[in-house]
Amino acid sequence: MPTQRGGRIRAFYRPQMVPADDTGTENYSKSPQKPVRMMAFLEKEGLLGDFLVDADWPPFAREDFLLAHTADYVDDFFAGKQPRCDSNWFHWTPSLAESVRWTNTSLYQAIRHALLHPQEVTLAPVSGFHHATPHGGNGFCTFSGQVIAAIRLWREHRCRTAFIDCDQHFGNSIEDSRFFAKDLAQAIPPGANLNPEGSHQAYLRDLRAQLKSLGEQILQGEIDMVVFCHGADSHEWDDMGGQCTTEEWLEAGRIVYEWVRELDGRRGQLLPLALALFGGYRRDDFDSVLALHAADLVACLNILCGHQIPYAPRVKNRSTSSA
Ligand SMILES: [Zn+2]
Repeated sequence: MPTQRGGRIRAFYRPQMVPADDTGTENYSKSPQKPVRMMAFLEKEGLLGDFLVDADWPPFAREDFLLAHTADYVDDFFAGKQPRCDSNWFHWTPSLAESVRWTNTSLYQAIRHALLHPQEVTLAPVSGFHHATPHGGNGFCTFSGQVIAAIRLWREHRCRTAFIDCDQHFGNSIEDSRFFAKDLAQAIPPGANLNPEGSHQAYLRDLRAQLKSLGEQILQGEIDMVVFCHGADSHEWDDMGGQCTTEEWLEAGRIVYEWVRELDGRRGQLLPLALALFGGYRRDDFDSVLALHAADLVACLNILCGHQIPYAPRVKNRSTSSA
């Protein structure tokens, strides 16, 4: 069993994860473009060499989506049938539908790889899952990617997954799916869908308290792996209005990575860790969203992967930017 993590984060990225016909101007949310923009931003910042891009995986089939959704919703969505095809709040196009198939698979692949290879931190550079419900999409989310991934990994590997959801918004998808997906109680046990509450220092205190409780579940052998979803809409200058200053937002990430490192030591083995992006909606300066995500990934590389990369994110001040 390796006791050191590798030096690079394995990113499950393929160009198909982004709709070819979405210019980013038609939809309020830039999330459909986020995977390609995140990877391009990492390259622009000179950070892409610290990532290993993994593009060798197939997309989900219809049956995978049925793990978390009704057949009516799945079929209506992929057929572009109103009103449910745009229940995710996006303008439906065939290529948007196809991209969603791949983004959901990216999350599953990232979690699966980290579970099987805990010496590697993995990344699904995606968002758009945690508000979906069995019967439809909601809030820029189409399918319950967390639920689908966790149920598959429970059935395939008896893996019990925890999600640390530091998006501004509560991740209702998991709780709203419990009546529908019966083995979700095993796949994501009660208490394993963390959503810190409050603002500023109270938010960080709540995050620490929830991590302490999750850590006890992990040490008791009740949870096998962790997925950290650090939505950038929990930043105070986001269009969706979050709880944290830049320093507090970055501190939240460091708290999580240092908690993982401490658990590694107490367990005597590496805790499988996958990362995902989730929200972040600044229309005045989307690079501020990407800079926060990049800084968070650098914190992971520095704390868990043996790097000492200096990186200060350029986050444009809301008061000086044009809306
Ligand atoms: Zn959000």
